[in-house]
Amino acid sequence: MIRKLIDRLFSSKKPSGALGKRVETPGASLGIDPSRLPNSALTVVRTLQQAGFEAYIVGGAVRDMLLGLKPKDFDVATNATPEQVKPLFRRALLIGRRFRIVHVLFGREVIEVSTFRANPDSASAAVEGDERDTHKLAGRHHAVDTSGRVLRDNVWGSQDEDAARRDFSVNALYYDPSRDLVVDYHHGLRDLKARTLRMIGEPSRRYREDPVRLLRVARFAAKLGFEIAPGTLHPIASHAELLRNVPSARLFDETIKLLQTGHALASLDNLRRLGLHKGLLPLIDLALSQPRGEAFVMAALGDTDARIASGKTASPAFLFACLLWPQVGQRWAQLQVEGVPLIAALDQAADEVLAAQAERLAIQRRISVDMREIWALQPRLARRSSRYAYSALEHPRFRAGFDFLLLRARTGEAAPELAQWWQDFQDADEPARADLLEQAARGAPEPAAKKRRRRRRKPSAGGAEGTGPEGTGEATAPEHGDDAAAQDPRR
Ligand code: ATP
Ligand code: MG
Repeated sequence: MIRKLIDRLFSSKKPSGALGKRVETPGASLGIDPSRLPNSALTVVRTLQQAGFEAYIVGGAVRDMLLGLKPKDFDVATNATPEQVKPLFRRALLIGRRFRIVHVLFGREVIEVSTFRANPDSASAAVEGDERDTHKLAGRHHAVDTSGRVLRDNVWGSQDEDAARRDFSVNALYYDPSRDLVVDYHHGLRDLKARTLRMIGEPSRRYREDPVRLLRVARFAAKLGFEIAPGTLHPIASHAELLRNVPSARLFDETIKLLQTGHALASLDNLRRLGLHKGLLPLIDLALSQPRGEAFVMAALGDTDARIASGKTASPAFLFACLLWPQVGQRWAQLQVEGVPLIAALDQAADEVLAAQAERLAIQRRISVDMREIWALQPRLARRSSRYAYSALEHPRFRAGFDFLLLRARTGEAAPELAQWWQDFQDADEPARADLLEQAARGAPEPAAKKRRRRRRKPSAGGAEGTGPEGTGEATAPEHGDDAAAQDPRR
């Protein structure tokens, strides 16, 4: 053990993020108003401080407050270990393996409390079994894979070490509400003012430690509207390949964050500019390479951004259903050309696309179940008999399925009349609904169906162009609707 420590102390390796110099600035002079902080975050900080620990609000919340944005959530950093934090709160959970933290619960609000951590090979990082300073912070070794990726991340450290292992200078600011002080080790305040996103330490090394940081550059540059510092930008292209080593579940988490920032379009644009979309996020890559994919995916992401801007949420299932739709739709059309009935073809297309996707970016099962329901609702919504219409309306995923139909109508792959009909049907009272059903039964014009017949003469195996999503769903429903229903085991 001592040998190890000596080896580390005299190791020629420089810490990947050199420790910065502590600079304290009064929060008031930066426009922070502590009275506007939520009670939950204040309580957590004060409770920890009263128990003799250091505690600060950290990361995104400090950054957003300084930018005059409303923080999404509040994280707290402390020198107390998770085991020391937990008993101080009535409702607290120890969570995580790769990254052990404590969730302190206040009603539905969660304050994430993390212990100061050190960088993987920071020379002074605590090693297994050793005790450092008065808090006896016992840590564990970082495990690093052959490409330098950090596998575990539970080496406790001091605040300056904690700052050095964070990603960007503007994400490494600490705020102590009791003393109204902002603590900055890496010129985060300067970069914030200059609206610059700068990686702490040596960027290529930081990308190797955790390639997810490549995606985070795209996300934060989009969210904050910051320029990417040249040194941070430069190594991105040559490190893009490293994303292949990231476990698919982690890639999923980071992609969701990227899509749900409210700046999904701008983030995606950045991914492309940075060369990170090709082959790395196959989901997005493929979606965009389909003939109709781009318009559909762009519309979906634009909608998502607008929803978030208006204070609503965007469900991951809806987002991923959109991203994979160009592929599913194309395969669905292809299978029908090969003679597979409507609903069975959609099932099979969904199976195939989800299976292929799972190899790179694992979509959690509960999410993929919802995605399938959103897709399965598409041909169902094309049937406007009373038998189908009422049951569709009762479907737990109806709202998402209908929103999805609206998107398809907007991008020209579903009949706008169909989307309008469903809008009217939802808003209508009983007699008006009966009228609408009757009108549908009389066979209101089906422009999409006409379009399909015209295009059907040139079915091309891979061609989403003619037989793409537009050739499926409501377009085929009038022709294959009934026997498809008979084939569908869920009915
Ligand atoms: P948002 O408001 O979008 O959640 P955030 O800054 O809170 O932004 P999170 O992903 O929630 O972003 O991460 C919280 C903080 O943890 C970051 O501000 C950063 O300091 C640190 N962090 C998160 N992920 C990494 C990473 N991969 N590498 C280094 N530091 C990270
Ligand atoms: Mg956050």
